[in-house]
Amino acid sequence: MNMLFDWWTAEKGGLSELSDAPRQDPRLPSQGVPHGTYGTCGDVHNLMQPGRCIESISPEQLTPDLVKRLPLEFLKSQCAIPITLEDGTMAVALADPLNIEAYDAIVGILNQPCTRVVCPAAEIEKAISLCYYENGPRHPGDGRVGVESEFNPASDSDDALSSLDASSVQTRAEDLLNVASKAPVVKLANRIFFQAVRSRASDIHIEPYENEARVRFRVDGMLHNVATLDRQQIPALLSRLKIMANLDIAESRLPQDGQSRIKIGDDLVDIRVSVIPTLGGERVMLRLLDRTRAQLSLDQIGFNADVLGSFRRLISMPHGIILLTGPTGSGKTTSLYAALNELNCEERNILTVEDPIEYQLPGIGQMQVKPKIELTFAHCLRHILRQDPDVIMIGEIRDLETAQIAIQASLTGHLVLSTLHTNDSASAVTRLIDMGIEPYLISSSVVAVMAQRLVRVICAQCKVPQGPHDYRMALSESAGGAAGDPLVQGEFYKGIGCENCLNTGYLGRTGIFEQLIVDDRIKTMITQRCDSHVIKRAAVEKGMITLRADGLRKAQAGVTSLEEVFRVTQDSIHANYGVAEHAAY
Ligand SMILES: [Zn+2]
Repeated sequence: MNMLFDWWTAEKGGLSELSDAPRQDPRLPSQGVPHGTYGTCGDVHNLMQPGRCIESISPEQLTPDLVKRLPLEFLKSQCAIPITLEDGTMAVALADPLNIEAYDAIVGILNQPCTRVVCPAAEIEKAISLCYYENGPRHPGDGRVGVESEFNPASDSDDALSSLDASSVQTRAEDLLNVASKAPVVKLANRIFFQAVRSRASDIHIEPYENEARVRFRVDGMLHNVATLDRQQIPALLSRLKIMANLDIAESRLPQDGQSRIKIGDDLVDIRVSVIPTLGGERVMLRLLDRTRAQLSLDQIGFNADVLGSFRRLISMPHGIILLTGPTGSGKTTSLYAALNELNCEERNILTVEDPIEYQLPGIGQMQVKPKIELTFAHCLRHILRQDPDVIMIGEIRDLETAQIAIQASLTGHLVLSTLHTNDSASAVTRLIDMGIEPYLISSSVVAVMAQRLVRVICAQCKVPQGPHDYRMALSESAGGAAGDPLVQGEFYKGIGCENCLNTGYLGRTGIFEQLIVDDRIKTMITQRCDSHVIKRAAVEKGMITLRADGLRKAQAGVTSLEEVFRVTQDSIHANYGVAEHAAY
């Protein structure tokens, strides 16, 4: 089993061994001791010796392992945190310099000499959440993704996780710190969530089989086995998850969908829950929606400078259709949102039709498709056009009617952004023709098609040069690769795997792109109903960087590995050429 998930084996006794007893350290003072806090250091300067007052706490001053020996709830309620001063000595930062009780308790637990400093409450709160949550895998600098510390008996980080019933999702995010019920099953569910967020998982799968249930996380697009649960643990866990998502716990024969929201430290995570009945029992998929993804800007999603410049020119056009293509999970939505974030300003009216709305974008009108009440993409779009939009984003063009309205909107002076399920950029044109759109309408409205994929980024902490032998192996094993290709020259890298990256050699993902600009020549080819591979070849002759070529640029820059580029671009090559013709890309 992956070493990242050692915490689970510590709990292998299952639910029965999860203790219900509160983990209150007897040495800690009782919670909620009334004490004042101070907004600025000036207020208390006279109480402290000179130099014992700091305005801020930098991440370098924090030792998360040390901080995590103290219960989160205690640090929060006392507004105190141990830090390292610039001269290397240990200190306890307090918002209230007279809170000697908290100081004594911390010194007692850490069992080492500390001095006292006073610091604004906001800085201390920021530092606490940095240690407890943010300084996890998202900030690999701390080099500690291992979870042992999270789940050792001295730590109370369980309490850092909270969940809300769906009924109260819209109201207030209440920390689970306040949830009285600490049933073992609640703890089990919380552990799963906490661990999933810390390992940057996008999905949690709970899959029952005849004698056991498997828990898997999807991290950077790849599934990892996390744990095996006893069959008898499943009914309680299922009920807990269903209650969280406001689903019918008595219904086990029909699929159900719901949503929930959990709170970890200061972060809210939205969760979409899907339950389906399978032969082994009900199978649960939980998708964790990372809000930070919706806030990415165009220069954070992996564009090379040339493609970025050209994409910025495209989205600044007053009208036309820009299509993004790629399979599910290729990052299309993130790119669309990044484009909308850039376009979002006072002068533009931006409206979207989505299914589902994954993230809320401030300042943008988002409409959710609801086929049950006949609110389809096409229906929504027709109404959106009456709202005087400048920019329209359509989650996906799935049918002829939606495609027709998108084209009509573009021809009447709107910028339309949307996605299509095709493997490469040129196939988008043929897909629209297959749907029944006249080629001349496509050539007069579509201004560009961008295909994209996500490649995993090599972990910086275990990155090593890849020997020539290794990468030639990668080429011969991957369809479409050839050792003599000029694009496959140079130095390449790989991650050998470390604690930091779940032993995968990768940490995080970035986009690779293929941008087909519909110029006059391509327009003519579209109206002549040319095959997509003919169109693609013409675009490459004019300098289009293909998905694979863009990926190879990133591999040469040491961002990702050769294997990764070949893995994610295989289908784009097969889509048009077959292996023999790969050289034309
Ligand atoms: Zn690594």
